[in-house]
Amino acid sequence: MPLLRRKRKPEPVVEEPEAPKLPDPPEPGAGGLRAMADHRAYLLSCIEPLPPFGQQILDSVGLSLCEDVVAGVSMPRFDNSAMDGYAVRAADVQNATEQTPVSLPVVGEVQAGSPAPHTLSPGTAMKIMTGAALPEGADAIVPYEATDRGAEDVRINEPSINGQHVRRVGEDVNEGDTVLRAGDRLTSRSIGLLAAIGVDQVMVRPRPRVVVVSTGSELVEPGLALQNDQQIYDSNSYMLAAAAKAAGAQVFRVGRVPDDPAQLKQVISDQLVRADLILTTGGVSQGDYDIVKQVLPELGPCDFSGVAMQPGKPQGFGLIGEDQTPIIMMPGNPVSAFVSFEAFVRPVLRKLAGVEPFVRPTVRLTAARAITSVPGKLQFARGVVRTDDQGHRTVDLAGGHGSHLLGGLSLSDALLLIDEETDFVAAGDEIDCWLLGEDN
Ligand code: AMP
Ligand code: MG
Repeated sequence: MPLLRRKRKPEPVVEEPEAPKLPDPPEPGAGGLRAMADHRAYLLSCIEPLPPFGQQILDSVGLSLCEDVVAGVSMPRFDNSAMDGYAVRAADVQNATEQTPVSLPVVGEVQAGSPAPHTLSPGTAMKIMTGAALPEGADAIVPYEATDRGAEDVRINEPSINGQHVRRVGEDVNEGDTVLRAGDRLTSRSIGLLAAIGVDQVMVRPRPRVVVVSTGSELVEPGLALQNDQQIYDSNSYMLAAAAKAAGAQVFRVGRVPDDPAQLKQVISDQLVRADLILTTGGVSQGDYDIVKQVLPELGPCDFSGVAMQPGKPQGFGLIGEDQTPIIMMPGNPVSAFVSFEAFVRPVLRKLAGVEPFVRPTVRLTAARAITSVPGKLQFARGVVRTDDQGHRTVDLAGGHGSHLLGGLSLSDALLLIDEETDFVAAGDEIDCWLLGEDN
């Protein structure tokens, strides 16, 4: 009986976790296409910088510092000699000249890293090496070049003044000075400074881990033989891996996946564990085998849109898997993929790494020849920059307009941005460019 009286536990209410969603995308403009800058701002708004971690200074070059660094020591740490020569009292040699040299007894020697043997008495000199601590009593250094380099006595034939060739304690950096600030991007110079003040580790944002996948059943790995006339080598995964590396990422190039939905889903799912960002090319346009568009929404919320740019119109973005890992899905034509990288991936990589500015600055250069353009879309033409004898830079076209023209792309060192309204640029007109060779 008691059993019957026992209250039944209410069924636990299983709440369906709310499916993750992307923020509302920006409104398209005229022609139903999204402006390039709007799409870029949208992607940037969907990702956050990676959390900081402690890293050895040598592995931190190019990374963004996440803490202020305060010098724990002054530089120089002690008054020391800037020259190989003799430590003296300036007053003893203030009138020395070639005609009226001053002779002083040499009473010892100081090397870098060793203390002076004793205080310098008036009327004497002590041999001293660059970087060695200034002996007490000395206030100037006479370089070898102004002496006869004597060992017992030294003949000095130039006058000296107090402090000459002496590096003063703290004249470069003072203990307690903030030498680097959060947000600074570490260079070889700043890493030298960190080492100089005795710092071996810093808090930085890590290199984003980027997985690169190319899709297409026609693709063959370079180095292997092409089997038929329909196959081509996979250039995108190499090009994008190289571009991501140059932008500071740690890259995992997966390479080609055929146009098979199950295989693509498997590969992308498997890669999620090691990705802060996934890049794919191909399969986002209107073709029957454009499987990226078909498969990726199964892994997380995605946004496929037409962007008012040429090349690079079809663009895909998603936040996939458990961790909502960002994925940027680019068109397959190599030039389209490259332009998409420059327009969207590079800024996203820089935001992940906390490196500002996220967007490349545009530089105005003079067009070397007339350029026609299709209005309605932002045209990205490939350019070659030339500098004349006066240092004036002009930009010329490299190769044609086609998005399959990788030869022309490889010759270029700039992208020309010809805006939606412009259909003609005359020779001599100024034009907006992104300089590709510069890490800006
Ligand atoms: P898709 O965007 O997949 O329709 O591809 C557009 C064009 O780009 C086709 O001619 C593809 O063969 C070519 N393509 C796609 N992926 C690659 C790649 N990884 N390397 C070189 N060409 C590619
Ligand atoms: Mg394809």
